[in-house]
Amino acid sequence: EAKSAGRNTLRFFDPAMQSMVAERTELESDLRAGLQRGELMLYYQPVVDADCRVVGAEALLRWQHPVRGMVSPMQFVPLAEQTGLIIPLGEWVLQTACAQLAAWARSPDCAQLTLAVNVSARQFRSPEFVVQVQNAIQQNGADPRLLKLELTESLLLTDSQEAIMKMTALRSLGVRFALDDFGTGYSSLSYLKMLPLQQLKIDQSFVRDVLTDVNDAAIASTVLALGRSLGFDVVAEGVETEGQRQFLLNQGCVFFQGYLFGRPVPVTEFSVG
Ligand code: C2E
Ligand code: MG
Ligand code: MG
Ligand code: MG
Repeated sequence: EAKSAGRNTLRFFDPAMQSMVAERTELESDLRAGLQRGELMLYYQPVVDADCRVVGAEALLRWQHPVRGMVSPMQFVPLAEQTGLIIPLGEWVLQTACAQLAAWARSPDCAQLTLAVNVSARQFRSPEFVVQVQNAIQQNGADPRLLKLELTESLLLTDSQEAIMKMTALRSLGVRFALDDFGTGYSSLSYLKMLPLQQLKIDQSFVRDVLTDVNDAAIASTVLALGRSLGFDVVAEGVETEGQRQFLLNQGCVFFQGYLFGRPVPVTEFSVG
């Protein structure tokens, strides 16, 4: 009907919506410039084993904006995905992470640390992805066996043949793969075994209330049992209390990440001691 169509058309000029669009456009051009100006950095959060020894780290992207202050990746990663800026941004992350691995290799305390890097869907689907990873490893002289790429379930479900080919190519170099935020997506169990994965990360939404919510406790225990029977390492994310750690440890969890062990920090503040 003409009247309602007219109303819908008018909604497009809604000032609130218009300012939202303007804000996004500004954020996007800011991000593009920020990448050039060196405003992006990686923070490192420790991953520990059952004895609380640091065995690795996850690289987490930070944007130190001169006016906005620290911008969360939750705000700008999805935007970078939508605009395609994630391709150069993701390449910068891979290069920076591999340079860090190579630097750690020269210090005895850090030489064995693994480094996990988050990969977004559009970045992974790009035809250049495998070459981007290979270049980052080779140009920085990083040990590919210490590099772990974190993928999400939705990313793997969309074109699984293509995903398996890319993962297999990188596996042959020694690169490892983790499934991030596990339990929040829709992976079928048979499908999990088809993928060349080495690790599952229990999403922090299940860890948060693991001591008080019987469903979350059941999910965490099930993921740990699944990991054991399918031969995946399991990392629990978002561990903040000793009680959570004890529960997960009792359920067979061997790797942990969370504020209890350390927040994400600039590399100069990262220590294994
Ligand atoms: P993620 O990969 O699941 O990373 C874990 C998030 O949980 C991080 O948030 C981390 O700071 C936070 N975290 C760790 N321990 C705790 C804890 O004990 N309690 C709580 N409440 N939170 C904890 P962050 O750094 O804000 O990153 C958010 C998300 O942004 C990441 O989730 C990841 O999906 C994305 N991201 C971050 N860096 C990159 C990147 O370089 N590339 C891509 N594509 N995505 C990234
Ligand atoms: Mg992650
Ligand atoms: Mg996660
Ligand atoms: Mg997450």
